[in-house]
Amino acid sequence: MTDELVRLIQEWDGQGVYMKYDKPTGAWFFIALHDPTLGIMAGGCRMKVYPTPADGLRDAMRLGRGMTHKWAAIDFHYGGGKSVLALSRPIEDSEREPLLRRFGRMLKSLNGAYATGVDLGVTPEDMAILRDEGEYVFGGKGHEDPGPYTALGVFSCIKTTARHAFGTADLAGRSVLIQGVGDVGEPLAKMLAEAGATLILSDLDPQRAARVAKEVGGTTIDPDRVADTPCDILAPCAIGATLNKQTIPSLNCRAIAGSANNQLEEDADAERLHERGILYAPDYIVNAGGAMAFALFHEGKLTDAEVEARINGIGDSLDRILGEAKERNESPLNAAIKRVEQVLGHH
Ligand code: NAD
Repeated sequence: MTDELVRLIQEWDGQGVYMKYDKPTGAWFFIALHDPTLGIMAGGCRMKVYPTPADGLRDAMRLGRGMTHKWAAIDFHYGGGKSVLALSRPIEDSEREPLLRRFGRMLKSLNGAYATGVDLGVTPEDMAILRDEGEYVFGGKGHEDPGPYTALGVFSCIKTTARHAFGTADLAGRSVLIQGVGDVGEPLAKMLAEAGATLILSDLDPQRAARVAKEVGGTTIDPDRVADTPCDILAPCAIGATLNKQTIPSLNCRAIAGSANNQLEEDADAERLHERGILYAPDYIVNAGGAMAFALFHEGKLTDAEVEARINGIGDSLDRILGEAKERNESPLNAAIKRVEQVLGHH
């Protein structure tokens, strides 16, 4: 084992790491089990080429800790964990299924301590192969696309954010700029349009932006104008690190709530937004709807309408956090971290 792998394991605050070297492909399988306090450790499976196995393990650990925070911040009965299939090279098509089957058997041997679902580099078809080997896989037939559920959670959080920023959750006439009208941004645009919001849409694919704008009624702007276009609420639904030292000074919005992962380039950006008086709803809370829905569907106890009601509850979790942030005059990110510590400490 390399010194870097040893160092990462020594320094991690999680419960443990389960790992395996996949001889046929030279890949490493990492399952970073972070915190079981709230329940089964659950988090998606990511597959990509990493420069070194340590880079894959570092990603698994960081993402596993992120899942603990996500579930705890929304008071949901799962613990945090994440798996990474760290490839040393792109795999051939013919290698994919056998590799997934080997990982599926590794997953099964954890006997339900950890459950997984789709993340970057894996598909719903890959999940079907994993499920064939074991039962601890979220997202299945009829539930292949988390986007609309994630969008529903974002929508409920936008209403909450509006209430804190403007004193009313009524979105009629409120201008919302959606950056990225993909799997999440498009259904979100439809919900916002129905609520009477004025939509400004942007996408790297201009045809896509124009099509959605035509469907829901809205205007489009170039991707490089997102940061400085005036709007009430900015909803980043494209890529990470869009809120940073360079963009924050030029932002022309009052609040931010969107699905994109890792919107802040660094945690200090939460303070920069707070100082500018821009209310930032932490992304890992806002975008929890898809993961929550698939976990609930897997449990099979709730109807579709009940699952949607639970997703709407994400807005209530955010409401508490924004309220606590306001009371203490601190950034919502700080308030969310304190809330997570409190939830985990009470169990
Ligand atoms: P997607 O790939 O379907 O859509 C993203 C869209 O953003 C694409 O249309 C792309 O052209 C556009 N885009 C990329 N860069 C852009 C830029 N600089 N400016 C404007 N548009 C840009 O992805 P998605 O599934 O809709 O996810 C969007 C974000 O939400 C991602 O960060 C993802 O990690 C996060 N997220 C998604 C889900 C989910 O359920 N799909 C759940 C949690 C988090």
